[in-house]
Parts: sequence; structure tokens; C-alpha cells
Amino acid sequence: MSARRYLVAGNWKMHMGVGEASAFLEGLLQEELPDAVDVVVCPPYISLPAAAMLLSASRIGLGAQNVHWEASGAFTGEISAPMLAEIGVGWTIVGHSERRSYFGETDETAARRARRAQEEELRVIFCLGETLEERDGGVTFEVLERQAAVLEGLDAERLVVAYEPVWAIGTGRTASPAQAQEAHAFLRGRIAAVLGEEAARAVRILYGGSVKPGNAAELFGQPDVDGGLIGGASLDVQSFSAIIRAAAHLAAGE
Ligand code: PEP
Repeated sequence: MSARRYLVAGNWKMHMGVGEASAFLEGLLQEELPDAVDVVVCPPYISLPAAAMLLSASRIGLGAQNVHWEASGAFTGEISAPMLAEIGVGWTIVGHSERRSYFGETDETAARRARRAQEEELRVIFCLGETLEERDGGVTFEVLERQAAVLEGLDAERLVVAYEPVWAIGTGRTASPAQAQEAHAFLRGRIAAVLGEEAARAVRILYGGSVKPGNAAELFGQPDVDGGLIGGASLDVQSFSAIIRAAAHLAAGE
């Protein structure tokens, strides 16, 4: 077992307005979540203030799903890192594949967002991963190397990387534990190359892509998999809690 603590983060995407988010979090707070696992939820922006109030006395972290790279200005529709920090948001996802494929996110813009978020002391979950076409074309590792190159200059202490093969997101098709481990080990090598060996040992690499209670243990049991970024299964208190418990069992060596 590595010294890295497991982290299970829920990406709610464009689900759960204020009412649903509050009901969900009230339910999650009733669960006896294990201390051994770090937990973060990432609601849509509109639900963040209510979530921040509900979670203020808990150890569940709160994250946004995106953040702009400027502090303020003429950027209609955007939200900045200081605005997030002001209401108690401590985390943000950056570079999610849905941002990359639908909203023109690039490696460079994702890196700018990440840098700015870290300057405001937010922790960043930096997403990357290959498409099906890229995997079938045999260029997975080239793609991961290119995507990971922009991590250079980021603060390792406030960085989590999420490996999310695009073909596994929301498709029900999960990477096999061996495929996940292979990609994570490769990414740890790239983190060593851009941020140094110490950072590579410390930075958590989450797997994301159709993680469910039934497959979490085998994925998280891989030596370089430090937890998960969970989409669909994070929208249900019972399944999200079950995934957190699967990580806790592994942390306890069970
Ligand atoms: C995600 O949105 O980051 C994700 C991994 O989604 P899902 O778990 O639904 O595949």
C-alpha cells in the first residue's frame, strides 16, 4: 500500500440544482463515511453556495467543475478562482474531456486554469485521457505524454491528476484494472519528468470512467490508482458511499 491517501471525488456534471444538491448532501452527511478516504463533491456552480454551507462543518471537500484563468474581467458566463475561494470552495476540476470535446478546452487553456486556481490556493483535479480513436490508433501514450507535459510548473501539493479514458466516460465501458494501472504508471513517470520524483510519489492519480460500486475495488486496488473521479455513480448517495467504502477497505489492507 502506498502512503498516498485514497481520494474519491464526485463530478455531478450538469445535474442537481440547489434543492436536489441539498437533499443529496443531507443524505451523504448521514452516512458514516470512513476517515481513511478523502471525499470531494463537485456540484454545478449554482449549487456551490448551498453546498458550502451544508459542508462547512464536515470533512467532505467541495469542488467546482471548471474555473477561469483570470481573476475578473469581461468573460461573460465565466467564474473565477477568487470567486470560488470566497464562498469556501477548495477544489476544482480542470480539463475534463467534456470541456475539451464540447467547449474547445485545450491542454494550454486547462493548464492556465490550473495555475490560476492554485494561485488562489484551490486544489486542482486535472483530467486527461485518450479517445477511443487514439487508443485504437496506438497513440495512447503519446497523447498522455502531450497532455501531462502542461503540468510543468504546477504545485504538486495542490495537484491531483485524473486519468479518464474518454471511451470509458459515461459509456458503462470501464478500462480493465491492467489498462488503468498501465496508464497510471506511465503518467506517474511523466509527472516525475515534469515535476520531479518526489512529486511523482506524492501526487494522487485518480481513475475515472464508469466506476461503480461493483468495479471500484479492483480498479483502486492497482498500485498506482489512488481513487476515482466518479460521474454517474456519484449522483446516488448509496452508490457513492459504497465506492468510498471500497477505497476504505483497501486502505485498511482488506
Ligand atoms: C466523469 O464525468 O468524470 C466520469 C468519469 O463519468 P462516469 O463515471 O459517469 O463515467
